Amino acid sequence: EPTIGVLALQGDVREHLAALAAAGARPLQVRRPQELEDVAGLVVPGGESTTISKLATAFGLMAPLRERVAGGMPAYGSCAGMIMLADKILDPRSGQETVGGIDMIVRRNAFGRQNESFEAAVEMAGVDGGPVEGVFIRAPWVESTGAATRTLASYEGHPVAVRQGHLLATAFHPELTGDHRVHALFTRMVRAAA
Ligand code: GLN
Repeated sequence: EPTIGVLALQGDVREHLAALAAAGARPLQVRRPQELEDVAGLVVPGGESTTISKLATAFGLMAPLRERVAGGMPAYGSCAGMIMLADKILDPRSGQETVGGIDMIVRRNAFGRQNESFEAAVEMAGVDGGPVEGVFIRAPWVESTGAATRTLASYEGHPVAVRQGHLLATAFHPELTGDHRVHALFTRMVRAAA
């Protein structure tokens, strides 16, 4: 079983820990730089990307996170985690930084007030067995992607699941559904990288 961390600064950490365990990984909470050294892959949870960014900086995690991601550690981000893995935010809050790694520009809270939270069936490449239930909560969408990325799923014409090599991001929250196929895909990515 690969040890996969969940960045445990803010957000729906518990749900990701449970989904990873169900997908056949050994989950571990990561709050300190030293804990990051013990994991073969990392999930950045949903939550509030501004808060996660500021806490990562305050806890001395931003530089080690960038180093490990640049060094090939697989990472998966859902929602706020997708924002954290984007090279660029279209509309960052002041002081908001990202770990980066995926050559894409994201727009925060993109679906607008009418559509703050909704669910939709989403066909996702690499996930067999029918569409995943996409739970979108003040979700970002992907405004544009670079050539090295692959769009695995789109909704209303916007990419909502993107992969670039060892990095995976979804605008929606599979950790809230009891369907562990996206976490199983990520666990396979971690195994393949090991
Ligand atoms: N809107 C949040 C942000 O910008 C993301 C919401 C979520 O993770 N559910 O960080």
